[in-house]
Amino acid sequence: MIAHRVIRFLIITTTLFCGALSSQIFHASAIAQGSIDRRLIARARQITGDDFPVFTRTPRGALVLARTTPRAEVLRAVDDGLTELFGVARRHGFRARLDYSNYTIFIARADRVKDSQGNYSPDIAVPAGQYAGGYYDQGGYIYAAGMVLAFNPSAFIIAEHERDLGRISNVVRYEGEHLVLYYNDRALYQKTADHSRGGGHPILQ
Ligand SMILES: [Zn+2]
Repeated sequence: MIAHRVIRFLIITTTLFCGALSSQIFHASAIAQGSIDRRLIARARQITGDDFPVFTRTPRGALVLARTTPRAEVLRAVDDGLTELFGVARRHGFRARLDYSNYTIFIARADRVKDSQGNYSPDIAVPAGQYAGGYYDQGGYIYAAGMVLAFNPSAFIIAEHERDLGRISNVVRYEGEHLVLYYNDRALYQKTADHSRGGGHPILQ
């Protein structure tokens, strides 16, 4: 009995670019309602090298896993990103996956806090995949503001922020965009999942 179906794409986001890597997104369709998939947590640990002992919810009901208890304003920033995403999605007539409780967000330790221009940019390092040899390749890895981890539950990783919490809202909105498209417009999802050939965020205006 196959409990889950693995799809061979891993989506990487920064605020500048974002794309699919030749890795894997979980599609665990047999997850019990309300429980957290241990394999999902294991995958997040594998990618980030972090543990996520803290489980909490945003005021609007998204699940957040973190290394330490997130500040209230961080949780509100997550909600703000989802609120904006859902609003845009509804304007496009989308109906699926527009509930906060559909989303699981891992907040990982940032592997850098400044980008190459010296701007505050907490990002995580992830394998370069098809970005290898390209502009963003840092030597086998790239820095990403966020990364889609799974379709079901709809899960992604962002980095811890000390400030500029509006950036959290943006990353949440952008990562969530791929997941909303996956469930509401599969053709557009396919067309926009891989940014290594161009294209970025927002996809939906
Ligand atoms: Zn993207």
